[in-house]
Amino acid sequence: MSGKYDVVVIGAGPGGYVAAIKAAKLGLKTAIIEERRAGGTCLNRGCIPAKAMIHASSLYREMQEAERFGISASDVTYDYGKIIAYKEETTDKLVQGVEQLLKANGVDVYDGKGTLLEEKKVRIRKEQEDVVLEGENIILASGSKPLILPIPGMDSERVLTSDALFAMKEAPKSLIIIGGGVISVEFATVYANLGCKITILEAKLVPNMDKEISQNLKMILKKRGIDIHTSAAVQGVTTEDGTCTCHYIEKDQEQEVTADYVLCAVGRCPNTDGLFGENVKPDMERGRVLVNANFESSIPGVYAIGDLIFGVQLAHAASAQGIVVAEKLAGKEPSIDLSIVPGCVYTDPEIASAGMTEDQAKENGIAVKCGKFIMSANGKSIITQEERGFIKVVADEATGKVLGAQMMCARATDMIGEFVTAITNGLTVEQMLKGMRSHPTYNEGIGEALEELEGGAVHVVPRKKK
Ligand code: FAD
Repeated sequence: MSGKYDVVVIGAGPGGYVAAIKAAKLGLKTAIIEERRAGGTCLNRGCIPAKAMIHASSLYREMQEAERFGISASDVTYDYGKIIAYKEETTDKLVQGVEQLLKANGVDVYDGKGTLLEEKKVRIRKEQEDVVLEGENIILASGSKPLILPIPGMDSERVLTSDALFAMKEAPKSLIIIGGGVISVEFATVYANLGCKITILEAKLVPNMDKEISQNLKMILKKRGIDIHTSAAVQGVTTEDGTCTCHYIEKDQEQEVTADYVLCAVGRCPNTDGLFGENVKPDMERGRVLVNANFESSIPGVYAIGDLIFGVQLAHAASAQGIVVAEKLAGKEPSIDLSIVPGCVYTDPEIASAGMTEDQAKENGIAVKCGKFIMSANGKSIITQEERGFIKVVADEATGKVLGAQMMCARATDMIGEFVTAITNGLTVEQMLKGMRSHPTYNEGIGEALEELEGGAVHVVPRKKK
């Protein structure tokens, strides 16, 4: 069996399926190959299940704290099995949506493992027979898989990856998390909300964010009872009697901590298992496919996007790259500016960032002015009794153009979109202030931070003394 296509995509994650749908919409005959389930890591083992777990566990915590709004909710309990069922139902709905979209747009979907062969052919390994497709162009979008620290004891069944933790039928009573990135703090939020004892070992929290955010997050997580050791260097894990012990060095002292399970959340590595046939390999570095500005690899007509290449490892970045490649293959100009990628963390309060931080602007020799609004003076935040939070805007001193924003407050992950639109379109502070913001909203905080840049905030509610 064989087939000829304008575009053959390997991997139906947010990079691959979006590229395939866009290519088909632009009139290109397109096929996509997926060895597991459409939606990739994001829908099945990443963004969506993590946010469903955060939503359910936050609701549980909020109900326990409802007394502060005059509501008594005694004997609030949770059924972990039902939380998992809700998470899976949410994921299934979205996966079905992607499958329908592929079908509705006329993309041919092939189940199985895709392997790139010579002359832009792709073999799909099936149980009974091999299928070979020929593509005028190939897009590699095989994504990533969890990275395991190369230290003793990590092969224990009590050491989990994010994939394994999602699959557990019971919530752990105690969990050690190695790593301090987004995945680490989001899982810490989920299981701390559910009453699990959490210890985070190694590395700064959310290292890619503004340092003030990292410091504030550490304080908030500690307040929630999470034990954080940012300067610990993990040496190994031992397992005994249904528990595991993490051995680490902190301030030159050997230390250890014991829990039900260890979650290894130290990052992800590209997934190239079986992706390349004999004598076919594009130029690569540290396992990632190297691409030029058009996402084309060293093999002409073979492109790579998403977690498989260097750059930001986020679902919306993979999708945006997929759209840009599809547009290029259809002879169109790119419709998306790939230089501004919003970064979000779904902790409570949420964290979001886009463009430059004040420090990055300084490092690049750009003179900037910054406006900052503390959200404890925002009406909506007072109504909902939010934790500490702020919105900070970085603007070019000479032109007034908005260069970046960092936020730590309720709905930050939704509100960052306003800044992405402003930065990619080169809007100034003055232009961003032209539109009214509804009252009372968290969004008013953006107006206040911008006003601060224009010479002083106009507060809707009296500002608390700092
Ligand atoms: P993937 O989503 O990994 O998809 C690749 C697909 O290719 C998979 O379905 C795989 O089965 C398939 N495949 C691989 N090899 C082959 C082959 N040879 N043949 C056929 N099929 C193949 N990002 C965000 O933007 N926001 C978030 O909130 C967020 N939260 C996350 C939470 C967790 C716990 C994790 C692990 C990740 C999270 N991410 C988040 C990151 C996000 O999931 C990834 O950046 C994104 O999924 C990358 O998309 P991709 O298409 O490059 O690869």
